[in-house]
Amino acid sequence: MLKAQETVLEIDLKAIQHNFKFLKSKLENNTKFLAVVKAFAYGSDAIEIAKYLENLGVDYFAVAYVDEGIALRNAGIKTPILVLHPLPENFNAIIQHCLEPSIYSQRVLNEFIIVAENNKQKNYPIHIKFNTGLNRLGFADTEVETILNNLKKTEAIKVKSLFSHLAASEDENEKTFTLNQITSFNNVSKKITEALPYQTMLHICNTSGILNYPQAHLNMVRSGIGLYGFGNNPKINKHLKPIATLKTSISQIHIIKKGNSLGYNRAFVANKDVRTATLPIGHADGIGRPYGNGNGFVFINGKKAFIIGNVCMDMIMVDITSIPCKEGDEVIVFGPEHSAEELAGSIQSISYELLTSVSQRVKRSFRR
Ligand SMILES: *Cc1c(COP(=O)(O)O)cnc(C)c1O
Repeated sequence: MLKAQETVLEIDLKAIQHNFKFLKSKLENNTKFLAVVKAFAYGSDAIEIAKYLENLGVDYFAVAYVDEGIALRNAGIKTPILVLHPLPENFNAIIQHCLEPSIYSQRVLNEFIIVAENNKQKNYPIHIKFNTGLNRLGFADTEVETILNNLKKTEAIKVKSLFSHLAASEDENEKTFTLNQITSFNNVSKKITEALPYQTMLHICNTSGILNYPQAHLNMVRSGIGLYGFGNNPKINKHLKPIATLKTSISQIHIIKKGNSLGYNRAFVANKDVRTATLPIGHADGIGRPYGNGNGFVFINGKKAFIIGNVCMDMIMVDITSIPCKEGDEVIVFGPEHSAEELAGSIQSISYELLTSVSQRVKRSFRR
């Protein structure tokens, strides 16, 4: 591995393959695998990751927004792409780029039918989403009749799948709630599948759903965080490999004399002589202000160095008083050995947020 001379997010593609195989080993052979590559594949790089996963043989991709799907199509991705949160103003673009919309309300269904008919489509694939308790997006189970009536009126669209999303699949204390979600989904999907003249797929599990609710794998599962190496559970994490390492290096070392301050607003004042390292990474790179003032930390020569003072836009300063190191030394912000989950936890956040926060200014490099 190259020593970091600048801030870089290193992506280990072999680790994705490892995680993919681990998750696949939890599935029946005929259960399809949808890889969630929204938000730049959780901050890594959607195009590289999607190309790699397409070669590994994933069945489906999902993105959140239409533009994310267009970027994949423009990069040559041929696998079906589900757009989880399309907005009606993008429906023409969806059809032009062969993207498959999640249809989550009457309004969206009606608008999509109009656009599909205007584009002279026949059997255009859509995915109907039901709300079973997350209360975010999705039809209510009381809307089945209207959905079916709308479907009967047109040949422009075809229901490729019915799906729902779990609210707390990682939380054992919410098992009853999750099982209720699964039951609600089974009930509502039964009503639709019985009425449709063709077969349609069913899916409800995200990563933690795959691991905790094998009875709910249905026809397909949707995994994001697991592919990137986190299982929302220490036992599972042992089997997964975080794919991303965020590295940087020491730009300058200072001695802050007792009584002197450091950084903007003089937020840190030394109560003894302190040795600090300035690093070329700041809140514009994804290390938000809450990590400052002793909360967050990085690793230098294997030792934990806490961020002191306020996080700047382009820099942070860390306390290296008891860490032997010199200017130019490598710094690990997070990686397989120093979990992004732990760093995120220092500000009551989660791996998902820290990973997706690494901004586009940070170079990505790939290990194959
Ligand atoms: C983001 C998302 C997923 C992936 O969830 P993970 O916990 O990352 O596996 C699956 N389904 C939907 C609808 C999502 O929005």
